[in-house]
Amino acid sequence: MAYDPNNIFARILRGEIPCKKVFESEHALAFHDINPQAPVHVLVIPKGAYVSMDDFSAKADPAEIVGFVRAVGDVARLIGVDANGYRILANHGSDAHQEVPHLHIHIFGGRHLGPMLAAH
Ligand code: AMP
Repeated sequence: MAYDPNNIFARILRGEIPCKKVFESEHALAFHDINPQAPVHVLVIPKGAYVSMDDFSAKADPAEIVGFVRAVGDVARLIGVDANGYRILANHGSDAHQEVPHLHIHIFGGRHLGPMLAAH
């Protein structure tokens, strides 16, 4: 899938729409999810134009990968979920129900999160 430069997270990165920012570095931005699914629900996105982890893992340069992965850990510690635990999740494509086509890692925490996937 080609990257859509008008997706909502690209617009947040350009400052065209606001976010509740919790962290920013050279390679990453983190902000609160607008529709939280847990007491703590923060999204971490790379600043580069990557649709998903599929795209990022294939094309990002090493500095972007290191910067982004470090940011995920830094954000988890910053928001205080490292001690009790947290879950990270990144959706890719339609089977995973990816809604926003810019790579984002969800960080969930603040309560016991139960089993990994909901039963069907
Ligand atoms: P996904 O299904 O993995 O693509 O998740 C997209 C996430 O982005 C959802 O959890 C949404 O609630 C969240 N989201 C959508 N628009 C915004 C926004 N403007 N600011 C913060 N989070 C958003």
